[in-house]
Amino acid sequence: MGYRIKELSDGFWKIMDHRGNTAYLIQGERKTLLVDTAMDDEPIVPIIRTLTDKPVILALTHMHLDHMYRCDEFDKVHVHEMDIADWKNGLGKIMQLSFPLFKVKPKRFHADKFVPLYDDSEIDLGGFAVKCLRVSGHTRGSVLFIDSRHRAVLCGDAAGLSMWLFLPYCTDVSTYKQNLENAEQALSPYKSYSFYRGHSEPEGMPPEPLSIQTFTDMRMLCEKLLAGTADIKRIDRFRWLPLFYTKNASAGMVVRKGKIK
Ligand SMILES: [Zn+2]
Repeated sequence: MGYRIKELSDGFWKIMDHRGNTAYLIQGERKTLLVDTAMDDEPIVPIIRTLTDKPVILALTHMHLDHMYRCDEFDKVHVHEMDIADWKNGLGKIMQLSFPLFKVKPKRFHADKFVPLYDDSEIDLGGFAVKCLRVSGHTRGSVLFIDSRHRAVLCGDAAGLSMWLFLPYCTDVSTYKQNLENAEQALSPYKSYSFYRGHSEPEGMPPEPLSIQTFTDMRMLCEKLLAGTADIKRIDRFRWLPLFYTKNASAGMVVRKGKIK
């Protein structure tokens, strides 16, 4: 139980809950940005207060419980407008019903706390601003946060070796592919940055590869899926839902057939 903290560089921390869900804290000259809240039973604000005394802004990579569970500790929750729209349109209800699935205590989230981020939003921390880049796929409003001070790109669940593209309110493969193409372009100035995931590997496991190349590998995987040439394997994660896993180099996807269009 409890959190583990790792200082990644001066004024930049990774905060992991006991389930491996990962939040990041970025300190500016005037303010601090918390990206995601993880999903611990214990509050996260007291942990943040051991690291910084500056005002804290909370922003979410997307609105899934394992990234937002502790957001009730904040007055405002910055999140992309498309996730807010979907939240009000049914995603919120699904999340409120998902507490038993995640084995966490139920709580209420208040939609009036959600402050929209847009495609071109920047969050000024004093001395530098963190940029948003939307990559619709895992959710429509999934956002990467680009931090030029610490040369970091925080990716949430937008890409990786087990990207989930089967949940309600995720996009289809074609939409995701278009967004990946856009991300490849938009990320090209940040090729040499470190890319971080929204979940940590279990202790002792090597880190999963994640870089701008992952977005290219994933775009190519989408192309193969759409062309019917991807190698897909049935997996047994949820008995009641037929899911498939497919992989290309540093990118992998858990998908259901209805999304391959
Ligand atoms: Zn997610």
